[in-house]
Amino acid sequence: MAGYEAVIGLEVHAQLRTESKLFCSCSTAFGAEPNEHVCELCGGLPGAVPRLNEKAVELAAKAGFALDCTVNASSIFSRKNYFYPDLPGGYQTSQFAPPICEHGRLDVTVNGQTRRIGITRIHLEDDAGKCVHGQGGVTLVDLNRAGTPLIEIVSEPDIRSAEEAAEYMRQIHAILVCIGATDGNMEEGSLRCDANVSVRPRGETRLGTRSEIKNLNSFRNVQKAVEYEISRQLACLEDGVALVQETRLFDSVRQVTQSMRTKEDAHDYRYFPNPDLPPVLVSAEQMTRWRGELPELPAPRAARFVKDYGL
Ligand code: ADP
Ligand code: MG
Ligand code: ZN
Repeated sequence: MAGYEAVIGLEVHAQLRTESKLFCSCSTAFGAEPNEHVCELCGGLPGAVPRLNEKAVELAAKAGFALDCTVNASSIFSRKNYFYPDLPGGYQTSQFAPPICEHGRLDVTVNGQTRRIGITRIHLEDDAGKCVHGQGGVTLVDLNRAGTPLIEIVSEPDIRSAEEAAEYMRQIHAILVCIGATDGNMEEGSLRCDANVSVRPRGETRLGTRSEIKNLNSFRNVQKAVEYEISRQLACLEDGVALVQETRLFDSVRQVTQSMRTKEDAHDYRYFPNPDLPPVLVSAEQMTRWRGELPELPAPRAARFVKDYGL
């Protein structure tokens, strides 16, 4: 690492703790038979009209307050267009500009050193379904998860080590579980993260070429994947191999990342405002009520236990 620094930004996806999906009344319960919880809307049939789940808006706003964000009184749902068999509508309903929350921060302590990580945005979006790659060379599609409400929490590229990335993820998990925004069950995929990693010479202010490691589902995998990726990129620089912006997958058995595809830029998704959904409005009364309902958060609670009980 001598002479270089790692630059890391995380995109954390959390499944919100609602009973029904983001835009229809299908159940979000985990573990049902395949395609038991599907209707015309979350099955992507043309002409089906979405209706927004208020509880999801409440939980997203509370996550925003807990992470010191500005919660926008008005935000927009857009269509993010791409093709995949588990995305029957051909687009994901997400928020591009403006998202429901922006400009937050989270303080993360590693080895006694506290650093402030900026939070760029938190947006609401629906999850895709799942492809189940079976025997006999067939792939089956299960849409139970399609339309489940998620928040995506995007950090600034402020993280500087694998330990810090894992600790940031632990803090986000603790906060979201504490405020009841997610059940935090990582084995069931309720919290997962994409890690964006680049390296650059120390003192350089421009960002290096990043790779994005998809779908890390444990704190340990976040740390191991980022560690591996930093050393892989440094080795490329040493060998004079040019880095490309790409999406990679972490193989937790072999403990390596592997290239999956080159990475799209946002404009390739052709985002446009979803014509079926009006702006998401959060009233002053809702802001005050939701902020007031937040419990004491993990960091202040820990500080209070140290101060009051000498723990
Ligand atoms: P996308 O969905 O295309 O990945 P986002 O803006 O949602 O785009 O997320 C990009 C993430 O990558 C953010 O967390 C950001 O901080 C991080 N990031 C952007 N550029 C770099 C870079 N050069 N090195 C490391 N992280 C980066
Ligand atoms: Mg990304
Ligand atoms: Zn449905």
